[in-house]
Amino acid sequence: MSNPHHPLRLNVGFLISAAIGTNRDFTFDYERMQLGDDLILSDFVGTARFSRTPQGLLLQADFRGRVVLECVRCLTPYEQALAWEFTDLYAFDRRSITESNLLVPETGQIDLAPLLREYAFLEFPISPICRPDCKGLCPVCGANLNEGDCGHARSAPDSPFAAFKELFD
Ligand SMILES: [Zn+2]
Ligand SMILES: [Zn+2]
Repeated sequence: MSNPHHPLRLNVGFLISAAIGTNRDFTFDYERMQLGDDLILSDFVGTARFSRTPQGLLLQADFRGRVVLECVRCLTPYEQALAWEFTDLYAFDRRSITESNLLVPETGQIDLAPLLREYAFLEFPISPICRPDCKGLCPVCGANLNEGDCGHARSAPDSPFAAFKELFD
């Protein structure tokens, strides 16, 4: 039912005329999945369940993947695991439309990519950190302190005592 060239473009036309309560699961498992121009996920797995309701096709989605982000402390790219679930309705007509503004297309083909992308971005951490104990960068020389100690004192450079320390060192 899914298109090999556009794996997230799903043919749900058969559900439009199915009995209320009929559902169908689409499962996904890809090493690499591109959602739009700037979001590439690795180890992308998930399920999209479409159910026929009186108002439209209800989508229950449950997805996971990994994305490369830059750590705010050490400025090094790392892989962030994402997991996201959501429920949304593709309405049959404008009377039933939700704030997501989704309608069942006349072709019966739903492209999940734009919606998955929007919900994936909501799961991005506000301050991405490569690991909980990331030591960050040395404020003196900029070395990545996760890779070793550059030998500079750890005291904050703007501490009032830092200047004295340099005088007496
Ligand atoms: Zn880091
Ligand atoms: Zn240093």
